[in-house]
Amino acid sequence: MDLGSWNLWEMHRKKTITIYSMLHIPCPHCGLRNETEFHYGAEAGVAYPDPNAMTDSEWAKYLHIRANPKGWLAERWVHFAGCGRWFNLWRNTITHEIGPSYLPFTKQPNVPLARRSFSEGGAAINEQNEIV
Ligand SMILES: [Zn+2]
Repeated sequence: MDLGSWNLWEMHRKKTITIYSMLHIPCPHCGLRNETEFHYGAEAGVAYPDPNAMTDSEWAKYLHIRANPKGWLAERWVHFAGCGRWFNLWRNTITHEIGPSYLPFTKQPNVPLARRSFSEGGAAINEQNEIV
């Protein structure tokens, strides 16, 4: 084995481990589980429109345009390796901080406020979804 490429791989592996950590997602039915048991669905709260009542442009916008904010986003997830049910979850798209989960078609909890600061290893997000 070429020692140079091994060192490069080892540096990449350590960097990956440093940056990435397992998310723990609270399924409303099963409780806290590892992210490997879930699949991301899409942005939550996007109503399915009647495609026959829309122009092609409106339909394309429905299919492809999402809010994609930097900060908290309500998302749909499915617990495919557990109960198999869909639910909604607040997740911070910058810090990957997990907020409350809730069932579809129920009252959406408020956007979580920042719980960590940079000094504690995470970004602080204010109520306007800005990093502070
Ligand atoms: Zn579950």
